[in-house]
Amino acid sequence: MKIVLLGPPGAGKGTQAKSISNRYSIPHISTGDIFRKNISENTPLGIEAKGYMDNGQLVPDEVTINMVKDRLQDEDCTSGYLLDGFPRTVAQANALNEFLISREEQLDTSLLIEVPIGFILERMTGRRVCPSCGASYHIKFNPPNNDGKCDLCGSEVIQRKDDTVETVKERLDVYENQTQPLIEFYKSKNLLSVVDGTKAINEVFKGICKVLGSND
Ligand code: ADP
Ligand code: AMP
Repeated sequence: MKIVLLGPPGAGKGTQAKSISNRYSIPHISTGDIFRKNISENTPLGIEAKGYMDNGQLVPDEVTINMVKDRLQDEDCTSGYLLDGFPRTVAQANALNEFLISREEQLDTSLLIEVPIGFILERMTGRRVCPSCGASYHIKFNPPNNDGKCDLCGSEVIQRKDDTVETVKERLDVYENQTQPLIEFYKSKNLLSVVDGTKAINEVFKGICKVLGSND
């Protein structure tokens, strides 16, 4: 199964991606996670991406597209994958489309987690993430069980540098201008599914399973 997750920053893509990836046994490919890993390892890619990310801007298309194409050719992607945070521009969506065509493959669906912008600020400023395994929490809606420690690996959870009020506002602008058009892009190809992302985390997952054709 090949799936693209769509939705504004803070919609719950990363949260749901972990469950989808487990349920359907497909790798969760988050471009944000790949960039953050490169930043923490101080690689040339990380050094290039950091300035854009800290300011809430997108990393340039060429860099991002090449990185994703490389990743999609890894062995674990042969039976499918779940893309989280890619594509984010029409150029990226076209590049993915061409990549799939060149391999005589098809996307199964793009899944929009629909959340009105009014929900986003609280979701993102309350987000806490595990720097070791990437798990995502929320101080109010999904706190870790054990006093700021990741439930999965025990590391101290942290606030992302780009989850401040100022940067979130910038990221929302970027979303509206550059990423939102992808909803129409996939709709016109008959490849858009929509789930209500305003419900509780487990309810959203139920909605996703329904769309993807399996009960949770
Ligand atoms: P994205 O990957 O789309 O940017 P995340 O999955 O990191 O979003 O979720 C953003 C924040 O909102 C996190 O703190 C997460 O715990 C929280 N969250 C995710 N889904 C829900 C939900 N359905 N209800 C309330 N909070 C949620
Ligand atoms: P995310 O973890 O998906 O919220 O992404 C965090 C940041 O990484 C974004 O604000 C961008 O700066 C960068 N990023 C992630 N995915 C992409 C992408 N597909 N294209 C460009 N920049 C990206």
